[in-house]
Amino acid sequence: MSEWNNSFFSGLSLSSARNANRPARALMKQLRNAVIRAGMEALYFSGAHVLLRPIFGGVGTIFMLHHVRPPRSDAFQPNRHLEVEPDFLRRMLAHLRALDVDVVSMDEAHRRLTERNFSRRFACFTLDDGYRDNRDYALPVMREFDAPLIVYVASDFAEGCGRLWWIALERVIAAASAIEVPIDGAMTRLDTATAPAKQAAFNRMHTWLRSLPGEAEMQDAIATLCTRHGVDQTGIARELCMSWDELRAFADDPLVTIGAHTITHCNLAKQSETIAAFELATSRARIEDALQRPVLHLAYPYGDRIAAGQREFALAKKIGFRTAVTTRPGMLFPESADHMTALQRVSLNGHYQQPRLLPVLTSGAATAVWNGFRRVDAA
Ligand SMILES: [Zn+2]
Repeated sequence: MSEWNNSFFSGLSLSSARNANRPARALMKQLRNAVIRAGMEALYFSGAHVLLRPIFGGVGTIFMLHHVRPPRSDAFQPNRHLEVEPDFLRRMLAHLRALDVDVVSMDEAHRRLTERNFSRRFACFTLDDGYRDNRDYALPVMREFDAPLIVYVASDFAEGCGRLWWIALERVIAAASAIEVPIDGAMTRLDTATAPAKQAAFNRMHTWLRSLPGEAEMQDAIATLCTRHGVDQTGIARELCMSWDELRAFADDPLVTIGAHTITHCNLAKQSETIAAFELATSRARIEDALQRPVLHLAYPYGDRIAAGQREFALAKKIGFRTAVTTRPGMLFPESADHMTALQRVSLNGHYQQPRLLPVLTSGAATAVWNGFRRVDAA
């Protein structure tokens, strides 16, 4: 709690923060014990988000999205957390407008953080990977609110040769009734006959694949599965992601900024420093070359502690990115300006699209609980 106490008033001039201090502090003890597991619904029903907003709402929010598209009816959708419906995005934008929050570009967020201009709260909308549905479903909704967005492109995906292995894995499991995989060196037969069995198998295989020592081992394992189960992994990027031609037209829209998301969408922390630096610098150069515009912003693939840490934050800064975003949950605070290549985000998660959760997401309450009430997580 000391971290919270020390940083409590720094940069927060809101008198309501002081008023909220006492009840919020009492609540926090309860929250730590009880609410952490219960999640956002509990935050909503307890009303805690109302008390926590002045303290943990911060000066701004970077929202993280992937797909924006109409829902599918399939029972097995293991990547459902990576997509929201257009109407949920619309409701969030309307909610932000009702709160009088400015929706700004990443350049403008960078400017406000750098200049310590926090007279108005702001939000950015960031979309990772470069999916075509960003153009077809997200942009029209953003236009309704004249709201900018940034799309982080993995250059191999735009080339049509990238590997979206999490989608390949979904397709392998969707089509199979059983799968044999060498988990921890032992051939293991996983039941994938029913939707719950498929989900369990996906979780187990996802954990296994991400735990493999290198990118090559993981890609080999996925390639073997795809061959055995007749899934065309190489076609997925062309099917789902915007090509360079499409990105050129998309990037012409004044609301759109294109950022970098590496070349191959690799786990940077598992690469040598030379390769990690190459992935960052060359993806930027490829996008700049293809789109003839500067690329100043970065999103780390996966973006969690396993994939991006101090070394990657320093590399991004050295290579000259103005900002870089992680997937560590959190709002923006004045001190975020000291960690411009380790900015935290708030995920708009497909599992939490209930309108009543909008104020929880914008209050900072959920991310504060997840972070043990630390405001900045850049270690
Ligand atoms: Zn990504």
